[in-house]
Amino acid sequence: MPELPEMENYRQLLSQRILHKRIDEVEINREKSINVPVADFLEAVRGHSFIAIERRAKHLLFGLDSGNVLLLHLMLGGSVFYGDNPPDRTAQIVIHFRDSQLYFIGLRLGYLHLHSRPEVERLLAKLGPEPLAPSLSLPQFHQLLRRRSTTLKVTLVDQSFLSGIGNCYSDEICFMAGLLPTRRSGSLAEGEVERLYQAMHSVLNEAVRYGGYMDTPLFPGDTLTGGFDERCRVYDREGEPCVQCGTPITKQMVSSKKCFYCTHCQK
Ligand SMILES: [Zn+2]
Repeated sequence: MPELPEMENYRQLLSQRILHKRIDEVEINREKSINVPVADFLEAVRGHSFIAIERRAKHLLFGLDSGNVLLLHLMLGGSVFYGDNPPDRTAQIVIHFRDSQLYFIGLRLGYLHLHSRPEVERLLAKLGPEPLAPSLSLPQFHQLLRRRSTTLKVTLVDQSFLSGIGNCYSDEICFMAGLLPTRRSGSLAEGEVERLYQAMHSVLNEAVRYGGYMDTPLFPGDTLTGGFDERCRVYDREGEPCVQCGTPITKQMVSSKKCFYCTHCQK
């Protein structure tokens, strides 16, 4: 499932390409992917343009010039493609601009919902702070962590704790911090909390810089998206040698979540 870096990568690349372009047509091939009657959706989108794209947690907010917002969550298996040649996979929603189209693909669990700005704010109000927000200081992070009795794995992917981290980056962050994902969040020593905080920043920033791990290009000729995939140190690397010590990476289910780590480097 796309996480913060994947959605941030989409946000940056799409912002350079679709803002202020008139939306000529909208194709809805799966009504369940939207939240209002098709006619209402078309009425709200056709003839308008996007004036800003924001990211909050794993969502993208496509701000329309009318003040309304299209709220995107890709969930499991969703992706986006921008270009003038349709991708092989069926698109549930297609937004047509004059010279190009934006395809929303694999929206089985995912969605593109139309909301007013106040509705969006209300819907996203329960999300925890953004991990990379400058306002999330180390002492504040420590305080949030201390209140948690769950394992690091469960805490890091909990969207009410921090928003935007999922299965992949929780493992990568724990590895970078040298901490076992099975550790109790509230039991970390001060130095360990600091390592976790630093690791969270370095891993997420690196992943954004390298385009996240989604392996399908966003547009023809896109060489950035997916660049982090080969840089993952532990995620989905069961049995492969640890990049630091050579010990085979362990896979374990932690509270029914897939978890990858090095038994030697992580304590
Ligand atoms: Zn190791």
